[in-house]
Amino acid sequence: MRYIDPHIHMVSRSTDDYQRMALAGCIAVTEPAFWAGYDRSSAQGFFDYFRLLTEVEPRRAAQYGIQHFTWLCINPKEADDPGFAREVIKIIPEFLKCPTVLGIGEIGLNKNTKNELTILEEQIELAANHDQLILVHTPHLEDKRKGTLLIMDALQNQGQIDPGRVLIDHVEEHTVELVLDRGFWAGMTLYPDTKCTPQRAADIIEVYGNERIWMNSAGDWGPSDPLAVPKARLEMTRRGHSSASIDKVTLENPQDFLSQSPRFQLTESP
Ligand SMILES: [Zn+2]
Repeated sequence: MRYIDPHIHMVSRSTDDYQRMALAGCIAVTEPAFWAGYDRSSAQGFFDYFRLLTEVEPRRAAQYGIQHFTWLCINPKEADDPGFAREVIKIIPEFLKCPTVLGIGEIGLNKNTKNELTILEEQIELAANHDQLILVHTPHLEDKRKGTLLIMDALQNQGQIDPGRVLIDHVEEHTVELVLDRGFWAGMTLYPDTKCTPQRAADIIEVYGNERIWMNSAGDWGPSDPLAVPKARLEMTRRGHSSASIDKVTLENPQDFLSQSPRFQLTESP
């Protein structure tokens, strides 16, 4: 069994997690830049964080035969101060040259504020100017539908963004169809309690099909499970999904989307 976890925050996880993921069949991860659990006090804090993502984590993952790729941005939670956000955005282009950077992410909205939307638009522009893939974080709970619509409008209003090069993450039953209908890719986040459980993700695939959709653990410093993807594979097996269909959503779809960046080259063919 081989799988890719396309959204996990390994900076918050232990080396033991890399080992357990490798034992479960993980061959590659992609790690979006996110909120570290506290607000960083300066743009320099992001510079150090981007070094962690581009230099330290690929080395740590490689010890277990896992390839590590990353995405850069200022996350929506720290993007409500436009002056500060722009200082961070200025340092991103030099890191886009790093060999494991796949694009801009996870950008999006947190509380759907006007400032967050302005910085979202500027980061979409950054991705367009540098021909980068985009990974989108959608807000939680009651704001999710509204936030998802605002984000998709911002992406489409930019005018140059191909929806096939954008993955909209943390979709749930009430947003997945909106995302797929507009031509974007959809990501389901498997959390133990909130977002999608493995059971709900399997239900969504049974209802909406397995095209342009993937699943991830979004493992971070909060309650989350770095083995969520292999657990969802087991749930799909239990329900009688074919191994080809299980591989499609946990290996081939991530590979198809991510391979749109020339940087995403798997050393081990699945
Ligand atoms: Zn995340």
